[in-house]
Amino acid sequence: MRSFESELDSLKASALHRSLRPLKGPQHCQILSGTRELRNFSSNDYLGLAASDVVRAMLADAVEKYGAGSGASRLVCGDLEPHRMLESQLAKLKGTDAAIAFSSGYAAAVGTVSALVRKGDVVILDKLCHASLIDGARLSGATVRVFPHNHLEKLERLLDSSVASAGPEGRVLVVAESVYSMDGDWADLFGIVRLTQAAGALLLLDEAHAFGVFGKNGRGLADKFGLARKVDFHLGTFSKAVGLSGGYVCGSKAGMDIILNRARSFIYSTAPPPAIAAAAHDVITRVFPGAMGERRRADLWNNVSIFTKAMAEAGAPLLHEPTSAIIPVILGENDRALAAAAKLEEAGVLVPAIRYPTVPQGQARLRITLSAIHEEKDIVALARAVAKI
Ligand SMILES: *Cc1c(COP(=O)(O)O)cnc(C)c1O
Repeated sequence: MRSFESELDSLKASALHRSLRPLKGPQHCQILSGTRELRNFSSNDYLGLAASDVVRAMLADAVEKYGAGSGASRLVCGDLEPHRMLESQLAKLKGTDAAIAFSSGYAAAVGTVSALVRKGDVVILDKLCHASLIDGARLSGATVRVFPHNHLEKLERLLDSSVASAGPEGRVLVVAESVYSMDGDWADLFGIVRLTQAAGALLLLDEAHAFGVFGKNGRGLADKFGLARKVDFHLGTFSKAVGLSGGYVCGSKAGMDIILNRARSFIYSTAPPPAIAAAAHDVITRVFPGAMGERRRADLWNNVSIFTKAMAEAGAPLLHEPTSAIIPVILGENDRALAAAAKLEEAGVLVPAIRYPTVPQGQARLRITLSAIHEEKDIVALARAVAKI
């Protein structure tokens, strides 16, 4: 039997071994790693809500009201008021008939995709889709097809053959993200919507990195483009811009009923803590649509342009104008990305090195994420340190 040690050694030899970094204190733009304070450019807390006074207060009030755990799966006896309030508010915000909340975005993606298609159906994914979507597709038993990132001609060909192979009773599901998590670029949404509709297929859009960040009241990128109604299933998370944890899917009543009856990550998992659901409800009701959400989104875009300008001034202009809060610096080999991240850490900046299989082989990178609460001087210091690399 092969030993765990030899397996670990081979991960280490290819600079693919991962380990945890113990941090102290709350998730904020300054964090304590051991005894060192680092400026944190690694989190998906885009609006800086995770440790904010406002969300702390929402959560504390909800714990007072609803207690800690939820006791059981929603279908057993865990269907508490905050979950239903969260779902109806989310459906209202997203303009859909219904919504379902999950305990994480991962659970939402795996559960939803595997509930919507089965053997004989076809699921077509963009090559850069998140692991949770790929896992859901594999688990479903449907035929899995992949098109190169945003490659519309290939998608069109796959749609043609998939519609034929699924037959009149079969389903064809196209899966894309709106903002890609490791590149920060956008899906070609107009093209994907046009082709999916023309083929009579279903479209699932994962807005994990766009929810709270784009569109009216933070509804997402599909809303920004006026395409929200053309998307059948809107997926997302409460773990990123919302600053909490949990995941969701929104869509038609019948679609949500199928997911409730078939998504095993929903059926066989204890409901999220009611206080988390209540606080998520409060954030999407009182922060995303209000003055605070508007201001934080404006601050985030301002910080993205401060970084872009500072990189140009430091003599290392970005290859592409950023279109989101995620800015990759692609370095190629795994050890190069690790060495670059270590250099940045010496300079007091935390930026993760992202390697295979999170990104394709040969595309290891630094993944910089900006937040509304970063300060200008820290962003300029980051740009100078990155430019040196
Ligand atoms: C982060 C992410 C998820 C998972 O969400 P969690 O709430 O962190 O489990 C799903 N899809 C995409 C595209 C993501 O980036």
